[in-house]
Amino acid sequence: MLREIFSHNCINCKKKILLSSLFCDKCKTEFYEVSNICSGCGFPLDQSVNFCGHCYDKKDFDFIYVNYWYKSSMKTLLKTIKFKDNFKSCAYLKLLLCNKIKLLDFSQYDMIAPVPSHFSRKMTRLFHPSDIAAKIISRGSSVPLVKALKRGRKTEYQWKLSKKARMNNVKESFLTVKDVLGLKILLVDDIYTLALLLRNALNNLSCQGLILLIYTLLPKVFSSE
Ligand SMILES: [Zn+2]
Ligand SMILES: [Zn+2]
Repeated sequence: MLREIFSHNCINCKKKILLSSLFCDKCKTEFYEVSNICSGCGFPLDQSVNFCGHCYDKKDFDFIYVNYWYKSSMKTLLKTIKFKDNFKSCAYLKLLLCNKIKLLDFSQYDMIAPVPSHFSRKMTRLFHPSDIAAKIISRGSSVPLVKALKRGRKTEYQWKLSKKARMNNVKESFLTVKDVLGLKILLVDDIYTLALLLRNALNNLSCQGLILLIYTLLPKVFSSE
């Protein structure tokens, strides 16, 4: 009886677990970290190399940090934060990110900017993974957090769309609200879905160097690019 009262379901597989937990023991191990990256640009690869295809097309970013694959427990965690506004999920994500970020040095950047959500989504949600990560990095590195971009018009969720529809979806959807000319920016988002995805946002940022920290990447992007 007590066990029933003090238990609930694992958010990933729905198995019964203690109320204090978020994932069952098995799902806790199902966060897949990116292990091989390109040493030139940081892009995730199936083996470590000195330069990859992205290195020759540096229109989008100078370097990218990706921590996890967007699948299994990480996918569920981000969706729970976005659509269920769960405090416990948010704390879990913060812990994962803090452990990753403390290993990196961000002191070379002039500002940290989260990729913004449209204001109507901001109003309906309590937590935004890109804001959470940007705040954690700013606090840990003393680099100022600046909301340099604003969402111009509302777009459909990128993960719901085909590759072509995604490109149209983000067209002219970001506005620059701060002067960033000549600055080095660390732009933070939670899911990297397509190399072209943020091009519209990035084109508006006439900065000196742009580094992306996107903490998950879709496996299908990895295989299609
Ligand atoms: Zn589970
Ligand atoms: Zn590369």
